[in-house]
Amino acid sequence: MRIIADLHLHSKYSRATSREMDVENMARWCKIKGITIVGTGDFTHPVWFRELKAKLKPTQGGLYTYGGVHFMLTVEVSNIYPQGGRLRKIHNILLAPTLEVVERINAVLTRFGSLMADGRPTLTLPSDKLVEYVMEISPDCMIVPAHAWTPWFSVFGSNSGFDALTECFGGQLKHIAAVETGLSSDPPMNWRLSQLDRVMLVSNSDAHSPAKLGREANVFEMSEPDYYEMMRVLREKDTSKFLYTAEFFPEEGKYHYDGHRNCNTRLTPRETKAAGNRCPVCRRPVTVGVMHRVEDLADREEGYVPVGAVPYRNLIPLEEIIAEAKGAQVGTGAVREEYLRLCARLGSEFAVLLDVPPDELVKHTTPRIAEGIRRVREGQVQIKPGYDGVYGEIHIYGDEPAREAAAEDEKKIEQPAQTTLF
Ligand SMILES: [Zn+2]
Ligand SMILES: [Zn+2]
Repeated sequence: MRIIADLHLHSKYSRATSREMDVENMARWCKIKGITIVGTGDFTHPVWFRELKAKLKPTQGGLYTYGGVHFMLTVEVSNIYPQGGRLRKIHNILLAPTLEVVERINAVLTRFGSLMADGRPTLTLPSDKLVEYVMEISPDCMIVPAHAWTPWFSVFGSNSGFDALTECFGGQLKHIAAVETGLSSDPPMNWRLSQLDRVMLVSNSDAHSPAKLGREANVFEMSEPDYYEMMRVLREKDTSKFLYTAEFFPEEGKYHYDGHRNCNTRLTPRETKAAGNRCPVCRRPVTVGVMHRVEDLADREEGYVPVGAVPYRNLIPLEEIIAEAKGAQVGTGAVREEYLRLCARLGSEFAVLLDVPPDELVKHTTPRIAEGIRRVREGQVQIKPGYDGVYGEIHIYGDEPAREAAAEDEKKIEQPAQTTLF
């Protein structure tokens, strides 16, 4: 069966996270989206962990279930420590097979920072030590550097990261089997670094609210959802079982280009270099984004595809496609309604985005939305790249005046009969 896994996200116990990120809502939204395995996030948080223990039922395969959705025990931790004369700030994702293993991990990590303060705890612990301690507790665990390229808090980040995985993980690098590309980079950008040939590239949503779940994900072929099998696939680089990753268009990510949010300055890496790394408006150093860092660290030309690379597919969340088709905002009444109706009717958001053939799509939604889905699948979108914390702006329909086209579009479909929502 096809397994869609989203392993990095946050519960309501993490800062700046929706109150709705609880077990019930996460399960409900995974059903809407078609996510088979979702991370619990935040397993180090004592209150959340208690909730997980109370609500989740164990499976044979190192996973837990609730409401027909499989949960994997996961957390993102923030490692902050000095190394080589600089303060390093690296986010790492931990994956664990059982509640018992998590208890033991939490007992160790609590020595390095308050686990209660935040669902993503800050630990004064070097990344290599984190790997050493966790792998000592259980060799079935896995540590994955999170959103590897973002300027702050990542292994290759321009502000507090490293130039090489080996500088960060040293002798423990042997345990690193996967790296998360993050929203602002995609596999082709990562393929330009030969040092990443030894790992698999994974993609997760890093969702802080249920509607954002699955905006990036990993697609596997497995006989059933199984933690140990997924770890084996990653460790052995079994490309026959890792089908593809579902990716944002990297330009949509909020750190793709360089610049200053407050100064409204968006710069390409080339423009930044020409400006001596300074903002043309305020003259202070710009926030150096993901594309720039990839250019700096790449040892291969653009377009290089390593042997055995896992394929990828670019997606735009369905609600964003509908919003643009209607000339309205994501999350507002008519947009959310059409989104839920389509997912219910065609199985799930992933079914709509990935599987349903175009001639079938037009039977269920407006021609403009069906056309939008087709264009996203073909990569026919224009995006103003994101920078310094500002998401990229997507335009699927070119210059057509959105409101008029949307109104015209609504006339082309009969109002569908009321369908039961989730
Ligand atoms: Zn993070
Ligand atoms: Zn500025």
